[in-house]
Amino acid sequence: MNVLVTGGAGYIGSHTCVELINAGHFPIVIDNLCNSNPKSLERVASITGKEVVFYEGDVRSEALLNTIFTKHSIDCVIHFAGLKAVGESVAKPLEYYENNLCSTLTLCRVMQQHGVKKLIFSSSATVYSGDNEMPLRETSKTGNCTNPYGWTKYMGEQILRDLTVADPQWSVVLLRYFNPVGAHESGLIGEHPNGIPNNLMPFISQTAIGKRHHLSVFGNDYPTHDGTGVRDYIHVVDLAKGHVAAISHLMQTTGESVFNLGTGTGYSVLDMVKAFETANGIPVPYEIAPRRPGDLATCYADPAKSKEVLGWEASKDQTDMCRDAWKWQSNNPNGYDN
Ligand code: NAD
Ligand code: UDP
Repeated sequence: MNVLVTGGAGYIGSHTCVELINAGHFPIVIDNLCNSNPKSLERVASITGKEVVFYEGDVRSEALLNTIFTKHSIDCVIHFAGLKAVGESVAKPLEYYENNLCSTLTLCRVMQQHGVKKLIFSSSATVYSGDNEMPLRETSKTGNCTNPYGWTKYMGEQILRDLTVADPQWSVVLLRYFNPVGAHESGLIGEHPNGIPNNLMPFISQTAIGKRHHLSVFGNDYPTHDGTGVRDYIHVVDLAKGHVAAISHLMQTTGESVFNLGTGTGYSVLDMVKAFETANGIPVPYEIAPRRPGDLATCYADPAKSKEVLGWEASKDQTDMCRDAWKWQSNNPNGYDN
């Protein structure tokens, strides 16, 4: 199948391109490279032996999308493109709403014009309201987002839901990711955050390699087994495979469906630090710091629906996540820049 992958040069997009190719699909990537490097797609080609068709440009460009849809017979779209830094979204809300919502609106309009009505959307566990009981099910309460980034995902979901109501030919799969970590086992592709990492795993990797003096553990007085925050970390390759599974479902159904992509297991910050040290034999110095505003104590998925309906479940464990994150970091200390 020809799959248009928006944001395909990015962290999750590049890993998904590998798994799409492995499954016999043909990814066609559009990315404006605002948070990625085209070398990721060269590396996808090294891993798979297949070149990826790449268009450098913005998903908000109707003209470029029209060119792509005219030139290629697109069967379905995976829409990763978007800005994702929570803190930055608080400082630059207009940029986030403009980029994340207008890209979705333009994409859907052009898809509609070309009669392509099959879309997978990158959503996030951040759309769940903070007052839910764990584990989070697809039916758990959404809303009460704590930052503009979260709202863009919440609103993106709503726009797509409305579309499926207005036109029953549309099929939309909303994938709510938990905490993607790790890298492809080759060490050729991975995540390279700009500046100081916001997320735990890249911060651990950069501390291990000496780029950061120590990890600040945000709070050790949460009601969890060791007092530090608990999350559902999922290997990015498992996450990528979840998209391949979702394509089969997408092509056979109409309407809206929602799936959690998580493992169902929560690990604390200190669990992750210890697992990283054990898997790689490298110390990760850390200090306890105050809680980070807006953080929940615990957040993990119930992935049962994904298993039952998509036939997908995560297969990689915490050791795989830590080993592969380190392989990427140690082989590419400056990401794709060297
Ligand atoms: P990423 O930044 O590595 O990838 C996003 C890609 O989209 C980048 O390559 C960027 O250059 C591109 N992009 C952004 N705006 C664009 C636009 N208007 N036109 C064209 N390209 C554009 O991020 P990622 O971690 O791979 O995330 C992919 C998607 O998954 C995002 O929508 C993100 O919000 C969502 N998500 C990520 C996480 C996570 O922890 N990484 C968790 C939940 C959801
Ligand atoms: N965290 C931390 N130090 C950091 C980054 C994150 O202690 O430098 C903690 C954070 O408080 C949370 C967990 O690690 O408990 C996961 O945070 P991340 O930002 O990776 O993901 P999210 O907050 O989106 O779940």
